[in-house]
Amino acid sequence: MKPNPFQRELIGILGSFGVLWRAEDLMLYEYDALSSQRVPDAVVFPTTTEQVVQIVKLAAQENIQVIARGAGTGLSGGAVVTAGGVVVSFARMKRILEIDLENQRARVQPGVVNLDLSLAVADRGYYFAPDPSSQRACTIGGNVAENSGGPHTLAYGVTTNHVLGLEVVLPSGDVIATGAGFWGRPGYDLTGVMVGSEGTLGIVTEITVRLMRKPEAVKTLLAIYDRVLDATRTVAAITARGITPAALEMMDGFTLRAIEDATHAGYPMDSAAVLLIEIEGLVEAVEEEAGEIEAVATECGAREVRRAKNAEERDLLWRGRKNAFGALGRISPNFYVQDGVIPRTRLPEMLEYIEQLSRRYGLRVGNIFHAGDGNLHPLLMFDARDKAQSKNVVLAAQEIIAKCVEMGGSITGEHGVGMEKNELMPLLFSADDLEMMGRIKNVFNPKGSFNPGKVFPSGKVCGELRVQVSTGN
Ligand SMILES: Cc1cc2nc3c(=O)[nH]c(=O)nc-3n(C[C@H](O)[C@H](O)[C@H](O)COP(=O)(O)OP(=O)(O)OC[C@H]3O[C@@H](n4cnc5c(N)ncnc54)[C@H](O)[C@@H]3O)c2cc1C
Repeated sequence: MKPNPFQRELIGILGSFGVLWRAEDLMLYEYDALSSQRVPDAVVFPTTTEQVVQIVKLAAQENIQVIARGAGTGLSGGAVVTAGGVVVSFARMKRILEIDLENQRARVQPGVVNLDLSLAVADRGYYFAPDPSSQRACTIGGNVAENSGGPHTLAYGVTTNHVLGLEVVLPSGDVIATGAGFWGRPGYDLTGVMVGSEGTLGIVTEITVRLMRKPEAVKTLLAIYDRVLDATRTVAAITARGITPAALEMMDGFTLRAIEDATHAGYPMDSAAVLLIEIEGLVEAVEEEAGEIEAVATECGAREVRRAKNAEERDLLWRGRKNAFGALGRISPNFYVQDGVIPRTRLPEMLEYIEQLSRRYGLRVGNIFHAGDGNLHPLLMFDARDKAQSKNVVLAAQEIIAKCVEMGGSITGEHGVGMEKNELMPLLFSADDLEMMGRIKNVFNPKGSFNPGKVFPSGKVCGELRVQVSTGN
């Protein structure tokens, strides 16, 4: 087997170690964390922006589509090709280029793994706030493209709130710089336009991010409930008291037991739900808020509120939460992670709805919520070998999303639209809204050559989510 002419030209740009072209290598890039699609024409590993420009120009000349890829942990099918194309992997552009603590910022290449940046500045008392549960694997380029969030989004916002500037390669091969590396650059906010655009407007080759100072004190509480309803009521009650915890996560009993079996994090095996609550700030304020939260949780029916006694206990609780998807992967051949948003005051109603839905479709559903944000992640267990079950999962997942929209929420909180939910966009946006977004896309990406088939509905009526699901990771 020999490389074809396009693959040979890529090898000319990157050398033979910078290009995958054999069928057996390309097959591995059919996948991300949602599903598999078609095999790409080539996978390339640039090390510089100049090489990305050359790849983009060559692909434009040959009329070949370009799909950026970070770690492939995306849950909406963003990093896989829909109809061939060249996948630009950032696995070799993973250098932290500059750490500028005086100005609380860092300049990084897109392939830097999220957690690695926090670890690089931890001993000097700083961290990068967006903390997706996949942070040990996912890249900052992927976070920017998906506008990712995490448990601490509640207090610190999502990725867009932490990006000060970008270097972007456009489909024309032109390179633009957005933002100035500090807040307050005049003109249109092109950084804001790029963040969350899921690789459809440009390929990000450099990112300037904001670093945060670690808080003086952190307290992590675990409120334990015998009734799920009481846990959901506590969420609204805490925020109604004017307390904004740094994180406010909910897990139901089914999920907890799977986590505890897998990670031995210290979660109670016999409870119906827990809230994992974190508060940060000055020592005195944190102590006071911890007391208030304990009181609210108890009033709402918590049978016990535990405090992590030290950093090890805290880390263990978070390790359990962040490995939850993996834990559920141990007990079901497949599962589908849904991602929707509702106003947090409607959590009790939503949980009741999901419970009824799971009975109606005969599916086991685990619930993990970034409850403070109203961001739901129901996990629907199934066996992909069972056709009826697979169909039911798709239908149930769609119904959950329709319910989120009906409740005044959104079709995705953080996993993006990709090719999972592009056909659902009309549930949330009017034809005029979509038309305007399409026009913006056309300004940057007029031929649709960057990440085609993502974000925008195809225009066809699509009766089902294109979900082959799930990797169980
Ligand atoms: C176990 C697990 C837990 C997760 N938890 C969370 C969570 O808590 N919060 C959350 O928000 N997400 C979560 N995710 C989803 C996922 O990790 C995030 O969306 C993450 O930001 C994707 O990063 P990545 O590097 O894997 O990107 P990929 O999956 O490789 O790509 C995602 C998208 O970004 C585009 N892209 C990648 N790099 C670039 C670039 N340099 N320029 C332009 N476009 C680019 C791709 O084309 C694609 O559209 C989770 C996923 C898993 C598997």
